[in-house]
Amino acid sequence: MTGPTDTHPLSPYGWDAGVAEDFAPYRSQGLVPARVARVDRGRCSVVVAREGSTATVHAVTGPVAAGDTTPYVPTALFAKPSDGKLRTVCTGDWAAVDLEADPPAVRALLPRRTAFVRSTSSKRSDGQVLAANIDLVVIAVSLAVELDLARMERFLALAWECGAQPLLVLTKADLVEDPVSLGYLVSDCEAAAPGVPVLAVSAESGAGVDDLASAVAGGTAVLLGQSGAGKSTLANVLAGADAQRVQAARDSDGKGRHTTTTRDLMPLPGGGVLIDTPGLRGVGLWDAGSGIAQVFSEIEELALSCRFHNCAHDAEPGCAVLAAVADGELSDRRLHSYRKLLRENEWIASRTDSRLEAEVRREWKRRQVIGRDRAQRAGEGLDDV
Ligand code: GDP
Ligand code: ZN
Repeated sequence: MTGPTDTHPLSPYGWDAGVAEDFAPYRSQGLVPARVARVDRGRCSVVVAREGSTATVHAVTGPVAAGDTTPYVPTALFAKPSDGKLRTVCTGDWAAVDLEADPPAVRALLPRRTAFVRSTSSKRSDGQVLAANIDLVVIAVSLAVELDLARMERFLALAWECGAQPLLVLTKADLVEDPVSLGYLVSDCEAAAPGVPVLAVSAESGAGVDDLASAVAGGTAVLLGQSGAGKSTLANVLAGADAQRVQAARDSDGKGRHTTTTRDLMPLPGGGVLIDTPGLRGVGLWDAGSGIAQVFSEIEELALSCRFHNCAHDAEPGCAVLAAVADGELSDRRLHSYRKLLRENEWIASRTDSRLEAEVRREWKRRQVIGRDRAQRAGEGLDDV
């Protein structure tokens, strides 16, 4: 691709023709484009173009009225995606920033292409956006421990759900001495992850690192995986930093914190952007309905031939999925984790719904009380006349 966007100072941060087009209406308002690198309550660090280069500035996410004691919710804090829900600014967002304001302020968010949303363990039922505009989800799976395909499938579902392309990276490949075994491990993962590239990488020996670097060069990536899977090490390798520094930083503060928590959005020397926020770490299962369908696409496809369209693939007559298991075409394990993931997802969805209901009910009660109070006072006022 050639064009003016290639030479834009924000290109290393993912600026492309699409973002340029989305930003165009804001230019005439004197706003500048920026990518959100980090968010703290009400404030964020944004990367802006400045004098042909980039600079990180601290911006507020909206103007706050002086002396106003009620929390002010600036409209600029929210982006309105196509589903009509309001969302707060998050790492990876593209924003229109007013640099003339003091302090600089985020005035608008550009439409999100993808969003990573956590629906569990957040107080709000509409889900917490952890990162926006992710093209690639790199799932780190350690070869130092036994492969947990079920967990891997769960991460894959998350990736598909947010609209990004997953990439499986089998880390610590140096610990698998036998190349034949390594080949088997890779093909096991390929079988469990249709449509997903699988790379075996070793930060130790450097094997596969170049392939990984070129895989992430095209867009914005996040790293997911269990603690200890090697995410920090991969991030350092991609950033060209000394992998040892992670360990050193961890040991010095004794809290197991990562140096990467301060590098939430990082342009990579080989191209591409890496988002590595603390929020994305230790992620459980998000709401991942359609993602599950993509991870288990072959099961969903088989299900089309089931006699009953609402077949639970349990004991129903004419079930094509069970027939495939009987034929050895589909593994029992795979059907088992499909069912398990569906059940978990249903449970989370029901919990989310009831939480939302409770919230709405509470708000309604609060308004009723205020309304009654007001009516009463108005009544008393009338009596006084
Ligand atoms: P994170 O919790 O996912 O960020 O994992 P880390 O990057 O902190 O790595 C966990 C441990 O695995 C550390 O002790 C690393 O030194 C080790 N490790 C990471 N990558 C490799 C590798 O390629 N080979 C080997 N042998 N060890 C690795
Ligand atoms: Zn069936």
